[in-house]
Amino acid sequence: MSCHSDLIVLGGGCAGLSLGMNLTKFGENSPRTTILEGRTHYTNDRTWCFWGGLGSDSEEFATHRWESFSITTNKAGITRHCEETPYLMVSSKDFYQTAQRLIYESPRIDLKLASLITGEIFKRKGLWYVSTPSGEYSAPWVVDTRPGSFPLVHHSAASNPMLWQSFLGEELTTEEDLFDPGCVELMDFSGSLPETILFLYVLPFSKREALVEATVFGPRPLRAEELEEPLRSLTKNRLHGIQALSGRREHGILPMGTKETIGRMKQQAEDFGNDPSYVRAGLMAGGARPSSGYAFQRIWKWSQECAVSLITGKPPKPHPHDHPLTRAMDALFLRVLSSYPELAPDLFFSLFAKVDPARVARFMNDQGTLSDCAAIMASLPPTPFLQEIATAAGLPFGKRKSHIP
Ligand SMILES: Cc1cc2nc3c(=O)[nH]c(=O)nc-3n(C[C@H](O)[C@H](O)[C@H](O)COP(=O)(O)OP(=O)(O)OC[C@H]3O[C@@H](n4cnc5c(N)ncnc54)[C@H](O)[C@@H]3O)c2cc1C
Repeated sequence: MSCHSDLIVLGGGCAGLSLGMNLTKFGENSPRTTILEGRTHYTNDRTWCFWGGLGSDSEEFATHRWESFSITTNKAGITRHCEETPYLMVSSKDFYQTAQRLIYESPRIDLKLASLITGEIFKRKGLWYVSTPSGEYSAPWVVDTRPGSFPLVHHSAASNPMLWQSFLGEELTTEEDLFDPGCVELMDFSGSLPETILFLYVLPFSKREALVEATVFGPRPLRAEELEEPLRSLTKNRLHGIQALSGRREHGILPMGTKETIGRMKQQAEDFGNDPSYVRAGLMAGGARPSSGYAFQRIWKWSQECAVSLITGKPPKPHPHDHPLTRAMDALFLRVLSSYPELAPDLFFSLFAKVDPARVARFMNDQGTLSDCAAIMASLPPTPFLQEIATAAGLPFGKRKSHIP
């Protein structure tokens, strides 16, 4: 079978489906689009969270909201209210269902499941050709959202830091009331894992139900098996002896680094140079915010802008570059975290305790103002940051303890 359209989207996950949904809004004016997805069906495989209240219509997908959050270290704990910018949760099950419904209702967008892209992708006479076991597809434009495979070891330069965020989560139902359903436990640093930053993240759905996740920031991505023990011990500690039944699980690996670092590390079979008719997008192509790995909101915003570009007859858009100040702050923060992982609990505590949560939320959502950035910088202890700046500048008093080469 061979099928021609205006646009082929490779991968129907968060980025591919977001683009598909945003194109459906343009009805007959949308380019004819084929989304090729390897999976045969969608499962409830991930839980997306982000700071809301900042005007994005992606907030309509949210099924849970928390108006306060807590940060706990071995020395202190704090709860902060964030009604203005609540922490929101989107269940992937609902997102995939809505996306499939909207796309199936659209005469211009076609989602083809069980379409694993296996063959070589090539361009001939202005058209891209993509093959799957069930057929060959051609189009003048391609958006490639396939994440590629994660390398186990990274080789980034010290000036261009890279960390991996790995997490394993499990839904628990406890036999007694334990959680505060109004308060998300953002970071609980009561455990430790050598050379990394380890914390427990808890999304409570009711007094007895929560998703608990062991999260690690470290120099290499961790498989689910490697996170079993941290999850077990952090959960045991959090349960305070209360019995709990285990439910659905999820595992994730997110890059924390600049777009350039991640782009270089992404192992891609194809390299099409800068051909604007072939655009990469999603988690490994600028979708993830370097300092947090959060990607859902950025991907949604990109998909809106990419859809508008396509509707106006222009090529698909890649993710935009971050503002230079955001890039510099993220890179410095990552360098400090990699060099001084033992300082992480105090750094995050200081940040969330001293800065108005709305400022942090705007900064995390790429909407930080200059005064938000200044407030964030002022909340952090200067010494490790100055040392990292000195190290990056090659000054003799700069000191680096990093395991990053
Ligand atoms: C468990 C988990 C929790 C997360 N939580 C958050 C969060 O709370 N907040 C946040 O902002 N971000 C979060 N993220 C990060 C990010 O938002 C997600 O990873 C998001 O799904 C990335 O979207 P994507 O489209 O780039 O990749 P994906 O959603 O993974 O989509 C890529 C798609 O490509 C398909 N594919 C791959 N290879 C092929 C092929 N050869 N042929 C056809 N199809 C192919 C895959 O099947 C997949 O559907 C989380 C990630 C995970 C894994």
